Amino acid sequence: MAINNEYLKNVYAGLCQRNPGEKEFLQAVEEVLTSLEPIVERRPDIVKHKIIDRIVEPERIIIFRVSWTDDQGNIQVNRGYRVQYNSAIGPYKGGIRLHPSVNLSIMKFLGFEQIFKNSLTGLPMGGGKGGSDFDPKGKSDAEIMRFCQAFMSELYRHIGADTDVPAGDIGTGAREIGYMFGMYRKLRNEFTGVLTGKKVGAGGSLARTEATGYGLCYFTNEMLKAAEDSFEGKTVVISGSGNVATYANQKATQLGGKVVAMSDSSGYIYDPNGIDYRVIKQIKEVNRARIHTYLDYVPTATFTPGCKGIWTVPCDIALPCATQNEIDEESANALIANGVKYVAEGANMPCTLEATKAFQTAGIPFGPAKAANAGGVATSGLEMSQNSQRLNWTFEEVDAKLQQIMKNIYAAAADAAAQVDMPGNLVVGANIAGFLKVADAMIWQGDAF
Ligand code: NDP
Repeated sequence: MAINNEYLKNVYAGLCQRNPGEKEFLQAVEEVLTSLEPIVERRPDIVKHKIIDRIVEPERIIIFRVSWTDDQGNIQVNRGYRVQYNSAIGPYKGGIRLHPSVNLSIMKFLGFEQIFKNSLTGLPMGGGKGGSDFDPKGKSDAEIMRFCQAFMSELYRHIGADTDVPAGDIGTGAREIGYMFGMYRKLRNEFTGVLTGKKVGAGGSLARTEATGYGLCYFTNEMLKAAEDSFEGKTVVISGSGNVATYANQKATQLGGKVVAMSDSSGYIYDPNGIDYRVIKQIKEVNRARIHTYLDYVPTATFTPGCKGIWTVPCDIALPCATQNEIDEESANALIANGVKYVAEGANMPCTLEATKAFQTAGIPFGPAKAANAGGVATSGLEMSQNSQRLNWTFEEVDAKLQQIMKNIYAAAADAAAQVDMPGNLVVGANIAGFLKVADAMIWQGDAF
């Protein structure tokens, strides 16, 4: 991909100069700016109001020390982040990632993507992201709690139900959200919807846990329907075995697919008879163990060390649900050579720009993350609505709204792509549809920020 438009090229060159070495961030921006070329050429007001210069720059970045004590009594120091990227259409909203790889580039790429994803949901949410380079692996419950409390003891002054509403992401599930919420409530002396992904019965929404994985399959289903096809009888490969992957497995299976491979950062399992999501839940959520222990439950399955190999497993549908840049050009070509028919991103930016290009060139329908995995944040938006109203909707009510939102997102992306004469290019369509709403809100609100 290359940016041709002069205005966009200049903005991007300036960004590269100001953010040297931030490769994930620059990759995410390059993809969006490339998609926006047809719009910038048709809308001179976007250039006049310098919307692109403004939208690539976060409104605010908070970086802070997180100091906590481990079980041996040693003081540990981590770095915490919150990138409050854009609040033109609603309070900042985006997850908290706890992983040793977390750095400013990763926080900014995730926050930037979140602006357009949240816009696509049709709900009033701005974009943000946060996290820490804390590694939850191998930590005791007590250590996780002390870290989360220390993290929130700084973050609480920057967030609020109408300001910035964090949620889960890699390494942050219901347990961590609970510890953070408890600390926020203590410090602020208020019970508000400041975090989403809360426990059901304590302000949480039914179906939030399942939402990203389910939403991914609802979106993929729309891609299949557009090709007059269905999940029925399809083999599916899903990378990762966390929140998104687990519930993507459940929904893909319910819709008639067979999930034959899943992974974690140590390697992947292959089970030609289909992987039962309940076994994955037991291993990951209850035992907090590694993926190879699947063989204790299903001895006929195989385990292969190294996570990249999962993309050599032949499948009809590939759903990358682990982390950024997990499918490079080589893996994309392996999938294509083995006959993959559809690809949809459950993780954020799991495909490199070259991998995306390879799928598109091969004519394979490709669902980009900011559209395909928006079901999680959409349901977080529904959790915020329920919190504001002091009401709880049933699982079926939330799931029905989620399905409708994913259909709407698919339609918005497909329509936007068709309008710029790039029918079927959901990458371009999602970027344009997500961008226009935010750009119009920024123009409407004036040039002072
Ligand atoms: P989890 O922490 O629940 O699971 C992450 C999974 O990915 C684990 O299996 C983990 O393996 C694997 N993984 C993480 N980092 C790496 C890595 N560097 N290399 C290989 N494997 C890795 O996270 P989620 O399921 O919540 O998130 C997965 C992806 O989906 C992320 O990109 C996230 O941003 C995105 N997403 C999540 C949403 C949500 O609602 N949770 C919403 C929208 C997007 P291991 O345990 O070995 O580290």
